[in-house]
Amino acid sequence: MTTVEETILSPIGKEGVGPNEFGYYGKFGGAYIPEMLHPNVEQLKTRYLEIMAEPSFQKEYQELLRDYVGRPTPLFFAQRLSKQFNSKIYLKREDLCHTGAHKINNTIGQILLAQKLGKKRIIAETGAGQHGVATATVCALKGMECVVYMGEVDIERQAPNVARMKMLGATVVPAKSGSRTLKDATNEAIRAWINEPVHTHYIIGSVVGPHPYPDMVARFQSVISEEMRWQLKEKTGAELPNQVVACVGGGSNAAGAFYHFINEPAVRLIAVEAAGHGINSGMSAATTQLGRAGVLHGSKSLVMQTEDGQVIEPHSISAGLDYPGIGPMHAHLFDCGRGTFLSVTDEDSLTAAFELAKLEGIIPALESAHAFSALKQMDLKEDDVTIVCLSGRGDKDLATYMRSMEQAPALKGV
Ligand SMILES: *Cc1c(COP(=O)(O)O)cnc(C)c1O
Repeated sequence: MTTVEETILSPIGKEGVGPNEFGYYGKFGGAYIPEMLHPNVEQLKTRYLEIMAEPSFQKEYQELLRDYVGRPTPLFFAQRLSKQFNSKIYLKREDLCHTGAHKINNTIGQILLAQKLGKKRIIAETGAGQHGVATATVCALKGMECVVYMGEVDIERQAPNVARMKMLGATVVPAKSGSRTLKDATNEAIRAWINEPVHTHYIIGSVVGPHPYPDMVARFQSVISEEMRWQLKEKTGAELPNQVVACVGGGSNAAGAFYHFINEPAVRLIAVEAAGHGINSGMSAATTQLGRAGVLHGSKSLVMQTEDGQVIEPHSISAGLDYPGIGPMHAHLFDCGRGTFLSVTDEDSLTAAFELAKLEGIIPALESAHAFSALKQMDLKEDDVTIVCLSGRGDKDLATYMRSMEQAPALKGV
């Protein structure tokens, strides 16, 4: 058996906790791509670490994180929530980032990288539109052409985000094949990249895709845990919490929140997946509970699939968690036991969102509400220090919250 030390901690770069040179975290990862994309992915693979280490890159990245994204985001001691659990709970406020979630930490990094690679044009896929908006935002900032692929069904469901992308100058291209949702948009984006590989960079929105994307995105998001460490030290005198909790769709906010704690065995890493209507309901997105090893969107990981390997359409009330796979780093954290994976239903995440709103005056994204709900499944001790990654704000979910209040006002305390 490979140990955690041999695999996930293989040193790449200075402080790296990356995959091995082939992009594997234990059994998972790699780069399963069409021949035509080989030059692009190879170029990224040979250049990303070198570019990210360049002082001129770091200077601009750090300045933009500070002045444009609004970092460092606060680490907030949630007093009333802590009292309710009789424990100590801190919130990492990624909801305060420009565009309302952590996704921009990655798109800022990737657009600077694309510029260094001499690319002229950006493509991206999006489901609910959050990654599309974060990509369109940085393309406007840098004056780059932006084409976002989005399922036709999602375009109808997510009209406000489509409008945002257009206002930011992006072209939104409908994916009309299959179920006309995220996985079809991803297929279209890959096809577009094959057609125009030389001048185009594909900005992937989570720690998924072929190597080096999972590692590259994890590094851009790792600013989250880098800040957590010094912020917790400032507040409590100690750098290490007992546990870090984050929701997992593809796994980028969790990867960022876990990154600088992976080598600290004393810190429990708790990943929260979407159980949808219930793990065994046939309408769920709890990949580690339901998935098997398989290849999805360019890497080997855990994938929800039928006996004969067809990808199963996932379900979650939260668009960001509605994905049939999980990044290879998380598949490995699950496989080797370093990460603890919990799951939360649609209904329980709604309840947690309403509770957090009333307890702390913060309306969370539905994705982040899954992480809060998971606190109830944990045996929190009085002296425990827990950091919850509040990945995004709830503005985008207001229509869902309104429907929920109409349907069950008493349950939501309204
Ligand atoms: C997209 C999104 C997620 C899920 O993506 P990860 O890559 O798993 O982090 C979680 N929370 C919010 C607010 C999102 O917008």
